[in-house]
Amino acid sequence: MRYFRPERVYIEKSALEDRLTGEILSRLPGIPREIVEDAAGVISETRSESDPFTSGKKKLLLRRKKGDFLKPFPLIPEYLSCHFQILHLGTGCDLECTYCILQSYLTNPLITVFTNFDDILAELAGRLDAAPGQFFRVGTGELIDSLSLDHLTEWSVPLVRFFAGRENAVLEFKTKSDNVQNLGKADPRGRVIVSWSMNTEEIQRREEFKTATLEERVAAARKCERWGYRTGFHLDPLIHAEGWKNGYRKTVDLIFRNLNPSRIAWISLGALRFMPSLKKTAENRFGRTGIFAGEFIPGLDGKKRYFKPIRRKMYEYVCGLIREYSAEVPVYLCMESRELWEDSLEVALDDSVHLKGYLDQAAIRNTPSNFRNSGTCSTNRS
Ligand code: SF4
Repeated sequence: MRYFRPERVYIEKSALEDRLTGEILSRLPGIPREIVEDAAGVISETRSESDPFTSGKKKLLLRRKKGDFLKPFPLIPEYLSCHFQILHLGTGCDLECTYCILQSYLTNPLITVFTNFDDILAELAGRLDAAPGQFFRVGTGELIDSLSLDHLTEWSVPLVRFFAGRENAVLEFKTKSDNVQNLGKADPRGRVIVSWSMNTEEIQRREEFKTATLEERVAAARKCERWGYRTGFHLDPLIHAEGWKNGYRKTVDLIFRNLNPSRIAWISLGALRFMPSLKKTAENRFGRTGIFAGEFIPGLDGKKRYFKPIRRKMYEYVCGLIREYSAEVPVYLCMESRELWEDSLEVALDDSVHLKGYLDQAAIRNTPSNFRNSGTCSTNRS
């Protein structure tokens, strides 16, 4: 895959002295740059263009973040939630997936990197040290791809070194890139999981542009495994397209024929869900994709989803494929009800706190750890 190179860099004046700003600029020789007092002007100018996201993905904005970097994943009481903590390093993604929910959420279409990185590490240390009895699963890949900008930011190295020394936390990098070369420079000591979103080969080719191919993702995962990282996979969004069964079978085969199941921290499953406004935005940007065709129902979070029997069938089938290879790899559902967990995974969970314990335990599975928690759950399958 080709790694991100912006056409223009905007730097907010207050970010000029930050070390990360200097490092990123030194890796972008020859790219025009502009210092702005406040980025609000360039953001609103880009928003007023006919396709703000296409335009915004050509621009890199370097600015400081005010407020907290570490925030809990928003809870939706109707669905079991994994109590994940999001570490905000920036916003916007240089890759292009037709179904990307950021197209519905982000008001700033520029690829934005927060340059006060020392504040991030200081906040993390403060939060983790203040709660030694609490286990933190931290991820950076919610509003930005965790690794696709790493050739410019090199965030990964200090983050891996930071988490390698922590008992009560793990870090998950989540990506659709193969931009992993910096990860070889640090020893994660079992505390860092590098995970890839995966789909069928056809969906990847048709709906995910500028990303690494599935083979490239798995090759990157093999490198990470060799360097001591644990891996993870997110079969999300599962798309109910023609030939889906065969497509997901090939993807699960690809994962398990190349990676050691005892080093896989988890595999999540999540069926396609989207805000109603996304269909129009995606079709304006990419033409008719076909993935929004068919019948959807509004979920309790306002997002559209497949009908429950379709979701159940997909989860059950894909979980079955995983279980053909491994009875041990933890599998979880993303934003689903207890009922679907029981019906399709045969896993009984009481509530979101129970799910947190289950995933905390998965996070330190097969790693030396002094951290103890009570995360168990009953399953009839394994
Ligand atoms: S990789 Fe993720 S964040 Fe980036 S465009 Fe695709 S869905 Fe959106």
